[in-house]
Amino acid sequence: MAITPLRCNLRQGGCYRSYRNGSIYWSTATGAHMTVGAIAGRWASLNWERGFLGYPTTDENCTLVNSGCVQKFQGGRIYWQPNTGANPIAGGIGFHWDQTAAERGPLGYPISGENCALVAGGCVQNFQGGYVYWQPSIGSHAVHGALGAKWVQMGYELSPLGYPVSDESCGGTPLSCSQYFQGGTITWPTFAGVSVTPSPSSTGVVVNKRRPNSPMNQTPPDLVWVGSQLMRSEAAWQFSQLVSGASAAGVPVTTVSGFRSYDTQVGLYNSYVSQYGRAVADTISARPGFSEHQTGLVMDVGNPNGACSLQACFENTPAGEFVRNHAWQYGFIIRYTWANDWATGYTYEPWHLRYIGVRTATDMHNRGYQTLEQHFGLAAAPTY
Ligand SMILES: [Zn+2]
Repeated sequence: MAITPLRCNLRQGGCYRSYRNGSIYWSTATGAHMTVGAIAGRWASLNWERGFLGYPTTDENCTLVNSGCVQKFQGGRIYWQPNTGANPIAGGIGFHWDQTAAERGPLGYPISGENCALVAGGCVQNFQGGYVYWQPSIGSHAVHGALGAKWVQMGYELSPLGYPVSDESCGGTPLSCSQYFQGGTITWPTFAGVSVTPSPSSTGVVVNKRRPNSPMNQTPPDLVWVGSQLMRSEAAWQFSQLVSGASAAGVPVTTVSGFRSYDTQVGLYNSYVSQYGRAVADTISARPGFSEHQTGLVMDVGNPNGACSLQACFENTPAGEFVRNHAWQYGFIIRYTWANDWATGYTYEPWHLRYIGVRTATDMHNRGYQTLEQHFGLAAAPTY
């Protein structure tokens, strides 16, 4: 029994009529199809035939796994399932989801629509079992499972890893899975923990006594001046924010040593060796090529009066206390803490700030500042 008269003059000359339990929409291109229930409600919320979905091209099909239903439209589909409600799927993300076997695959049903407010024009859609990301220069890739959980923990696309540039691929005996991201790789050998390997050019790069700069004599391309020192541009901007924040809190923080070239490190290390011998030099200075300062992501900081400069007692000076309590808020960690020399092979350096990005630094802070090695699931590096 119709509860409204036939109404026409819709987009592309379409018509509809409402009934007690739904409506029938008709257009010359799509024919007549019924919309009912939650799917009809979701379609209405997306502006009916005037939205990106256009007219329905099928009726509902409720024969999907786990009691799901789907209805197709000109511009996409709407899926409904008792646990997820009704959500649209379309475009590159929908195409990619289909390739993972859609609702029958590891991602399951969509639990949201697309969110296209991400950095660099990216979009994401959430599914029961993970995410599909789309970004104009990369395309669509799924993130799920143990690898996806690590990426989420790192800070999603805002981490130094950035967007996924591949899907997960698994193989070998024992089985191992890997996924590539803009800024590195996450690997999950199923017999061990998940590990993150940032690429050499990433702001997440890990340099230690087992992982030299790559190439060994590299100079980052985007160094800019911070006072009298150099840092990579993103780190420099965040460091200037840290200095402003400290200043606002009445604590002046000065720069002592930022980027150091391979050649500079040769001279520095050799001077320590001639002064203290090689064994001691290795605990206080990196061998050439192995210095984190060469990444351009590090700043040694101090007090303007030089109090406790490059000494452990720096931690109790005004600048030392500020960076201990607040550096993470600007994306920096104290790389060589007193509790972690077993993992880093360096003695406590409360002045040595390493930029790692706000998301990762915040996560590490919330977990109690483990080393980068532990946080990324990489081997400890106490010796060369
Ligand atoms: Zn340092």
